[in-house]
Amino acid sequence: MSRGDMAKPLLGHRGTEGDPSVTPASGRTIGVLGSGDFARSLAIRLVCSGFKVVVGSRNPKRKASLFPSAAEVTFQAEAVKKTDVIFVAVFREHYSTLCDLADVLAGKILVDVSNNTEINHHKESNAEYLASLFPACTVVKGFNVVSAWTLQSGARDGNKQVLICSNNQEAKRTVAEIAQVMGFTPVDMGCLSSACEIENIPLRLLPAWKIPIFLALGLFLCFFTYNLIRQVIHPFIREQKNKLYKIPIEVVNTTLPCVSYVMLSLVYLPGVLAACSQLYYGTKYRRFPDWLDQWLLHRKQIGLLSFFCAALHAVYSLCLPMRRSHRYLLIETAVKQAVEKKMNIWVEEEVWRMEIYISVGIIALGLLSLLAITSLPSIANSLNWREFSFVQSTLGFIALVISTLHTLTYGWSRAFDENQYKFYLPPTYTLTLLVPCTVIIAKVIFSLPCIQHRLLRIRRGWEKGRYVKFVLPSATGEYSSGETSSNV
Ligand code: NAP
Repeated sequence: MSRGDMAKPLLGHRGTEGDPSVTPASGRTIGVLGSGDFARSLAIRLVCSGFKVVVGSRNPKRKASLFPSAAEVTFQAEAVKKTDVIFVAVFREHYSTLCDLADVLAGKILVDVSNNTEINHHKESNAEYLASLFPACTVVKGFNVVSAWTLQSGARDGNKQVLICSNNQEAKRTVAEIAQVMGFTPVDMGCLSSACEIENIPLRLLPAWKIPIFLALGLFLCFFTYNLIRQVIHPFIREQKNKLYKIPIEVVNTTLPCVSYVMLSLVYLPGVLAACSQLYYGTKYRRFPDWLDQWLLHRKQIGLLSFFCAALHAVYSLCLPMRRSHRYLLIETAVKQAVEKKMNIWVEEEVWRMEIYISVGIIALGLLSLLAITSLPSIANSLNWREFSFVQSTLGFIALVISTLHTLTYGWSRAFDENQYKFYLPPTYTLTLLVPCTVIIAKVIFSLPCIQHRLLRIRRGWEKGRYVKFVLPSATGEYSSGETSSNV
């Protein structure tokens, strides 16, 4: 961003107009201690949002040119004197060097923006440590979850939430207002004891993805080993044929659809188990076991990984004819047929099988793409509950049925061919059908009117064997009350 651009308001007071709950920003002076990456981006954003900014540096002369001209860059003590709200954009290990400022900082609000390099790195959070060094100040934890880049590029391009916590409500409100004027969404996280949790957030690595990724890797490993035995080890042991060349593409490409298909069924299996539990206990108010709760929570990630494997399978399949091995085998077959003087090699059944197999595969991939797109928060938020449930539940189930057709047309009659049982191991596709077919059959059973009706009643609050108070109008129009079993 050029210095000229820095002076222009990016956001102005957008979003605060007409909102009486937001204090006007103009006129308020905000202090920033430190002149590093974060301090610079913060100062630019504050200036653009209409605040007066005063930066406190150990070496203001050298650092002044890095800040917008509208921001005043001065010595730390000078800066602190001019404002009541000070952002401490300094690393934790340098907090103690600020102790000389304790007197001028007394009674002011310190905003701790710091992060650690490891989760739970220190016993006490950085914010609590800062509060212990400056007991006469009010410390608010906040802004550590936004990066310097997000601050500069505007809230439109990055995460909009700013998590805030403090033991002082008034100070927390002041910082929340500043965040709001800057275009962020402040989220109250309670007391300063929550600072540790807030400081750990930027360090977490895909917490919701761990279980689904391990699940996908586990399935991949199992199916890969199974396919390796059937496609590479079996021909080597039985016919002394070296088929190692199949490992990078063919074995991987037969493994990916297995993982994708089973993962897709695992998105819908917990729903089936939950429905079974509700039907069995006759209530929706009984807690599911923890493992089922966790499984239900991870369905989105499992579905996205299923889509990822399906997309890779499509790319691998498109590349199959590019391989040298494929060309050699094609020429070899053509030469053999020429030698045997076979003119017509057209097999009607094979042609139809392949046409249907590819067509349903493309449709399944299209539906999976739709599911993946609608699971993005920005798209999901634009759908109402019925639309979201139609896409994720109905279209998702149709995707599972079409994937089953894709698998069946791939397998065709191989399950009944004894040559396909290598080391007595059935073809891989028959194994993949187990869970998806169980889900499809269960879903069909649940759609039977008698079961569907009972499930719907349970989901609306009806409970088996529970006596409910009822109020009925009598023949005279008066109301009489009594008790009955909702079961009757
Ligand atoms: P930085 O570029 O290294 O800046 C740190 C600043 O601290 C220096 O420029 C220095 O400014 C000041 N400072 C004060 N006393 C110091 C001392 N004794 N020794 C060394 N420096 C001293 O770091 P940063 O990236 O801006 O990060 C600053 C804080 O913001 C950290 O706590 C970090 O965790 C947090 N944060 C950063 C980001 C980000 O994207 N960078 C995101 C979230 C949170 P003077 O020389 O002018 O005094």
